[in-house]
Amino acid sequence: MDTDCLFCRIAAGEIPATVVHETDTTLAFRNINPEAPVHVLVIPRAHHADVVALAQADPGLAADLLAAAAAVAEAEGLRGDGFRLLFNTGGYAGQEVFHVHGHLLGGRPLGPMLAR
Ligand code: AMP
Repeated sequence: MDTDCLFCRIAAGEIPATVVHETDTTLAFRNINPEAPVHVLVIPRAHHADVVALAQADPGLAADLLAAAAAVAEAEGLRGDGFRLLFNTGGYAGQEVFHVHGHLLGGRPLGPMLAR
């Protein structure tokens, strides 16, 4: 755990979050500033800065993260209408929290993938 990392502290239970799914290796919680009716962040409990670092260091954990995101999509009723799962990575993507997290977005039509 990185004690300076917001999402490590959420995973440790030190900072409250609305948890919707958890496994031994992953945690999913609602975004504090949602941009869609469903906006859940899915993280590994272990600290990896971004999706590239995660995939390189621990591909099995990356698979756990994807499975957790799929489980949340099912549980939130997003499978039928569809949803978006995205990983902001680095500066051009505007990544703010450097503990890898998938944004699971759904509950309404999401529009074009990128802002014009
Ligand atoms: P990113 O820009 O991909 O790094 O996204 C970071 C996300 O974390 C933003 O959408 C924030 O709204 C969200 N966020 C920041 N602090 C919290 C928190 N304490 N609980 C839940 N979501 C948070």
